[in-house]
Amino acid sequence: MIQAKNIIVFLSNIVYLKKLKTQIMLYNEVKNFINGEFKSGSSNKIHTVISPLDGSELTTFNESTMEDLNEIITFAQKAQKAWQKVTLKERAQVFYKYKQLLEKNSEELTEIIYRENGKIHGEAKAEIDKAIELTEFACSLPQLVTGENMEVSKGVFCSSTRVGLGIVASIVPFNFPTMVPHWTIVNAIALGNAFILKPSEAVPVSSQYTAKLLKEAGLPDGLFNIINGTQTTVENICDHPAINAITFVGSTKVAKIVYQRASQNLKQVLALGGAKNHILLLPDAHPEMASSNIVASMSGCAGQRCMAAATLIAVGNCDAILNKLVDDALKIQCGTTLGAVISKAAKERIENYITEAEQQGAKIILDGRNTIVPGKENGFYVGPTIIDYATADMKIAKEEVFGPVLAIIRVNTIDEALAIENANPYGNACSVFTQSGGLANYVTENASAGMCGVNIGVPVPREPFGFGGWNESRFGSGDITGKSSIGFFTKEKKTTTKWNPEAGTNWMS
Ligand code: NAD
Repeated sequence: MIQAKNIIVFLSNIVYLKKLKTQIMLYNEVKNFINGEFKSGSSNKIHTVISPLDGSELTTFNESTMEDLNEIITFAQKAQKAWQKVTLKERAQVFYKYKQLLEKNSEELTEIIYRENGKIHGEAKAEIDKAIELTEFACSLPQLVTGENMEVSKGVFCSSTRVGLGIVASIVPFNFPTMVPHWTIVNAIALGNAFILKPSEAVPVSSQYTAKLLKEAGLPDGLFNIINGTQTTVENICDHPAINAITFVGSTKVAKIVYQRASQNLKQVLALGGAKNHILLLPDAHPEMASSNIVASMSGCAGQRCMAAATLIAVGNCDAILNKLVDDALKIQCGTTLGAVISKAAKERIENYITEAEQQGAKIILDGRNTIVPGKENGFYVGPTIIDYATADMKIAKEEVFGPVLAIIRVNTIDEALAIENANPYGNACSVFTQSGGLANYVTENASAGMCGVNIGVPVPREPFGFGGWNESRFGSGDITGKSSIGFFTKEKKTTTKWNPEAGTNWMS
């Protein structure tokens, strides 16, 4: 009898603790978004989302199943059929309203990104600003997707129009919880598709708000959907026969897996991978301009940007600029002007790279290892790190570290620097810092990267230009944003017409 009583007390304690845990979670459970409604994933595998700021638990979500994906597809197919019949001009109207909602909710969205990703407020706010810019581009699509019409032989006209593909899915990484999804959401839907987003399991909260705001903007149900999960969910997306196209953004390892699996299933795929970006520093560079841009590039978003400066190749004697660079990096304050890295595992990985470089003989000028932010002792922080005298064969100079770490290699000629840049398997970004137009041209012409910069630390091409790297930084053709995305998210229909019987016939028509 006593034992039974104890068991009841024990069980009620568990219920109480569970309730308490739900109460202290900052955000409600993260759910899938299906046909305009939030619904939990139906597997019983539960993931916990941790804030990198202080290691606290933010929320949870259930991994999704193929049944969840099937349910999304059923509604998405129906919604897309109707959406395809709406003119592009009318479809774009939803995004004018959506842009206003992003502006109105900017503060709340910034806070969510800050908490789930760990970047500083200014960087989180920049994501919203970029999402707004991407939405503006989607609003401009009716001016760009105009089609063509031409009299191809006497009395015979050929016209072309672009129509949506059907259902498209985007699989996204953790480092930009709002910006990267907006690379594809707005254009894909405006161009006539239904859309499925698979957020990163590390940062799934922001996308819940995207769903809420798109609905508020008047987007019909079934056109924007969310499926939460990890590897299995991505595999389900790659295998589902009703999904016509997939974009992926993340590491090269997974980009290859997704590209191969989805292409094997005859889908159209664009998969953007990791990066190792080079800065070529020439002695005639403007010292302040070079230093401030390079430091911002290597440390912004805690170095977790696929466009971050990772390897600096100093050509000749650049000591004065390098000294200034170290002084500028010293001013960075972890927890204030530098955010957290995404996880404990990421912190360990980054610190291991630094330690290995040190063991191999590189010189650690500024050491961000073992950084602890007072009051946030359980957060995941790595301070700005500058490593001098790295060599091209060291892992720190070759592999993606994805942290606030800059490795410096010293060479004598621009050609030596370009040879190192060209030999790296990635090809996202390469920037040169110089005041000589001729040398800048020489570098940008010979760099093996899709996005080059002259005196720019983060050479992201802005709309209408497209975002996309080369080599192992991108699989598939075209860019993911800008004008290039029109080709990816639509198919072209050509119609040849003759109304006048006098036009006659010839071998072509
Ligand atoms: P990641 O590759 O680990 O994860 C990306 C997505 O793939 C996530 O949604 C994840 O759930 C899923 N995934 C992970 N492992 C998988 C597997 N084995 N099979 C199927 N799906 C899987 O990347 P991340 O750590 O979230 O993001 C960081 C990486 O993203 C870096 O390499 C960075 O350079 C890259 N990135 C590239 C670009 C670009 O434009 N080239 C932009 C942003 C980030």
